[in-house]
Amino acid sequence: MNIAQQAASQAASAFETWQDSSGAQRAMLLRALAAALEAQRETLVPLADDETHLGPARLNGELDRTAFQLRRFADIAERGIPFQAVDDPAVAGPPPTGHPALRRVRVPLGPVAMFSASNFPFAFSVLGGDTASALAAGCSVVVKGHPGHPQLTLRTFELIQQVLAQQGLPAGLIGLVQGGVDEGLALIREPAIAACAFTGSTRGGAALQAEARARPRPIPFYGELGSINPIVALPPALNDTLAQTLAGSITMGCGQFCTSPGVLVLLDGGDGTAINDGFIATLTTALRAAQPHAMLTAGMRSAFDAGTAAWHAAGAQALLHEPGVGLAPRPVLTQVTVAQFVADEALRHEVFGPAALVLRCASLEEVEQVLAAIAGSLTVTLWGAGDDTPANRRLLRAARAIAGRVLFGGVPTGVAVSAGQQHGGPWPSSTEPFSTSVGDAALDRFLRPVALQDAPAWA
Ligand code: NAP
Repeated sequence: MNIAQQAASQAASAFETWQDSSGAQRAMLLRALAAALEAQRETLVPLADDETHLGPARLNGELDRTAFQLRRFADIAERGIPFQAVDDPAVAGPPPTGHPALRRVRVPLGPVAMFSASNFPFAFSVLGGDTASALAAGCSVVVKGHPGHPQLTLRTFELIQQVLAQQGLPAGLIGLVQGGVDEGLALIREPAIAACAFTGSTRGGAALQAEARARPRPIPFYGELGSINPIVALPPALNDTLAQTLAGSITMGCGQFCTSPGVLVLLDGGDGTAINDGFIATLTTALRAAQPHAMLTAGMRSAFDAGTAAWHAAGAQALLHEPGVGLAPRPVLTQVTVAQFVADEALRHEVFGPAALVLRCASLEEVEQVLAAIAGSLTVTLWGAGDDTPANRRLLRAARAIAGRVLFGGVPTGVAVSAGQQHGGPWPSSTEPFSTSVGDAALDRFLRPVALQDAPAWA
């Protein structure tokens, strides 16, 4: 039996009992996992820093967020949310008005294969939001560890095993498969796996989604993928502070965020053209002064150079392009025309790292064309669209047609974990745009509705 078979089979056995666990039991496990993570902070954060270069400040914050997510799903389970049902009492008489008694409940899907991301070694990895929401839903989990942080993955897994043993729960409730592409593919092919939650690149997600569909019994594939997160800026909103804030967002974490702003769309014309010129100049200066740290892996570093080189090969004009040193790149700012951007799909691919494209539009119609060409994004940000005007309503329509989250201020990096959150948009930003991987509704991905008809009380 290979490692994927073994983990899937143990997850299937663990699911037999975990699917019937109470909300209180699920909450107890999730809270103990949060506490164990916090108790091991001094070991885990330096390990994560060694393997990812993300720095202690960011990693401590991410660990806090991960513990918060675990506790939030503990509360959700304890409040009985996974067990809520719709009661529809019988109505006498012939159909369509008359009908039998129906009770619509939700049942956990089964063992979930969870693919960790490289850029969130805590929050989208072994004990991240997918694991927390799947456990709260009553599913078991098999984690596919990311090869970018193998030791952290192993240490976190050991900590999980201690908690499971302390609570008398089966070790297979949370399993682990380490390795590369082959191990991941083997896991998703396992017949016992009932769903897959993936956070990573659009290319990797597409390959695994195809695999999930090609199985004799296809399974749901929740892929959270890459995104270019346009910011549409109307001239009155622009000032130097905003340029500094944007530079900080583009370079934050060395640009290695799925919500990193990759496209700045400016509306030219009248005084706006001069305001936009000034904004780009301040943004360029702020980016030049930034000192991005090393990227997560050598592969990502070379993909960053290849991605920005592809922009320039496609005819885009470099505004800022300096050579990086080793694993640390320099920020890149590049201008491209609306016609080029709309015509050339290569210009709309995510370049993972501290880089952004600038587009200058002559009209609202051009802004709409740009957004329509992007087609799918985790976020769209609208700066200066606060007033209720026909033009702003058009902008909002264009933005919400392609995005999971529309911001009317600030920058898209930073995703609140809360009830109203939506993290996932149309392809290529995610595979299932009606679901979210962040926030309370992440639970819904792992519960399947079942209608119980004329059921006895015990059911
Ligand atoms: P990645 O390279 O796609 O890796 C993610 C996982 O997928 C890894 O376990 C990887 O395994 C596996 N994988 C990749 N290609 C595969 C293939 N062809 N067949 C089978 N398995 C495959 O992504 P990453 O480097 O972790 O993260 C960077 C990307 O994630 C960026 O595009 C970023 O925008 C996106 N991201 C999205 C979100 C979101 O919420 N939407 C959040 C964070 C990151 P191996 O490494 O073993 O090959």
